[in-house]
Amino acid sequence: MARKKKFMRLENRGFMLIQCQKRGETRAFYTRDNLEEYRCRACGEYTPLERLGYFIQECPCCEETHRYMTNVQDDVLTLNCISCGAPVDIEWDGRRRHYVTITEKDYRRRSKRRRR
Ligand SMILES: [Zn+2]
Ligand SMILES: [Zn+2]
Repeated sequence: MARKKKFMRLENRGFMLIQCQKRGETRAFYTRDNLEEYRCRACGEYTPLERLGYFIQECPCCEETHRYMTNVQDDVLTLNCISCGAPVDIEWDGRRRHYVTITEKDYRRRSKRRRR
């Protein structure tokens, strides 16, 4: 049985971190609906939600994990944990094509690499 590698198809529902295409303000929210567009509360502009990325936020403080869909394309973003409010840094992983939480382990590994 051949198993094809497929990009995970996720619906635009659950936790979302969406950036307004007009002025760039971002908002994190929760939705039960499969959204096709996002209406910015600040400027009223509609942003289409196509080909969203996603990330798993692993809070180093309370160890809760949350999955977010996002259209943000920054290399690194910081998002407060919805459970305990601690800021968590999340980095775009080009190899895996989604965002990952920057954990202490990553920091250590990176500083080691830099020393060489
Ligand atoms: Zn806006
Ligand atoms: Zn937390």
